[in-house]
Amino acid sequence: MTAELWNPKFESMKPDELKKLQAKRLKNLVKHVYKNNKYYKQKLKNAGVGPDDIKTVKDVEKIPFLTKSDLREYYPFGLVCTSHDDIVEVHASSGTTGKPVVGPYTRNDVELWAEVMARSLYANGLRKSDVMQNSYGYGLFTGAHGFEKGAQKIGANVITISSGNTKRQIDVMKDFGTTAIACTPSYSLYMAEVAEEQGYDPAKDFKLRLGLFGAEAWSEEMRTNVEKRWNITAHEHYGLTEIIGPGVVSECEKKHLHINADHFLPEIIDPKTGETLESGEEGELVFTTLTKEAFPAIRFRTKDLAAITEETCSCGRTLPIQSRIKGRSDDMMKVKGVIVFPSQIEAALMKVAGVSDNYQIVKTKKGDMTSLSVEVEPTDDRYKQGSLDDLEEQAESEIYSILNLHVSVKAIEPKTIPRSTGKAKRVIER
Ligand SMILES: [Zn+2]
Repeated sequence: MTAELWNPKFESMKPDELKKLQAKRLKNLVKHVYKNNKYYKQKLKNAGVGPDDIKTVKDVEKIPFLTKSDLREYYPFGLVCTSHDDIVEVHASSGTTGKPVVGPYTRNDVELWAEVMARSLYANGLRKSDVMQNSYGYGLFTGAHGFEKGAQKIGANVITISSGNTKRQIDVMKDFGTTAIACTPSYSLYMAEVAEEQGYDPAKDFKLRLGLFGAEAWSEEMRTNVEKRWNITAHEHYGLTEIIGPGVVSECEKKHLHINADHFLPEIIDPKTGETLESGEEGELVFTTLTKEAFPAIRFRTKDLAAITEETCSCGRTLPIQSRIKGRSDDMMKVKGVIVFPSQIEAALMKVAGVSDNYQIVKTKKGDMTSLSVEVEPTDDRYKQGSLDDLEEQAESEIYSILNLHVSVKAIEPKTIPRSTGKAKRVIER
């Protein structure tokens, strides 16, 4: 069965028509930045590229990459390509690793954002009749605002509760008849824990049917746990402040991540050489915003690792499909010559019976040597049973079978790892 699409004209476009549209939009974009921003103009001139050199999508490769450090250099408004009077909204990243990335939007940019978020949420199954509890943190971050705009465009009822005050979240979920929850996956698990403490069975006592999750790297195994715990269908969202916020990709009911490639042109490159890779090869994701006005990004290097395929999906969408993000190249750890992503350790832990969803990877650095260990909370029942050595050994062997690396695992008392109402801190340094 083919599901209904929010915007069939663009979501089920023939691939050659999509390429034509992308090429036309790319040319206009290059014209726009060349005319309206002196930094972009200089950058293009240095590379010997002008608007007339853009004829096909492939011509994007003539343009140099844009990196996070470029964005920091032009903080806050150096890359704005419209008059400041045309800006109606501004968002920013947290800036925990440097100056924040600032995302200004014109009225058309805001409308575009609502459109791509409506597509995403509609693809997840959100409808006008739904009540969406928006438990992403409101503030300068893009997350909560993107979800609100998209859900309202669909006509759903948005509860703008923001994150935190978890007991109240549960009361509101019960009293307001919430059918969809939007937050980080780890926060939803913390909410389940609090609901249980309040005497509820999360799988039975709520009207919840959809989880709209993002802002965190999580494994498929964790997705299965969240779905079981709440008895919901859980969907992944991917986006970033530099591009527009959430809404860059839409996950369909087949759980395929379709890139909204009529607005965001994707590429996969070799993170070391910058060379463009073939369809299906894993590398660093690069995006060009084809239609944004105030803050267009051309060939922005996301540092996120994934692959893109152009296989057809039975949902009816023809937009290219992106794999789940393996991890940010920033999160990558090298331990005794082995490349390790936190999501791989998570996937291993989730295979062990009696392990809860709460764990922490402890990174210890001695000189140039990095070593890892894992602390994990067993479920309450498993903890009471004792003989936790077995559980630790099983977890170690699951990790070994994925990474070929010995990582010691320690079972610790339930509810000792700090819970987060936003992004969970999975890796700590000691
Ligand atoms: Zn699909």
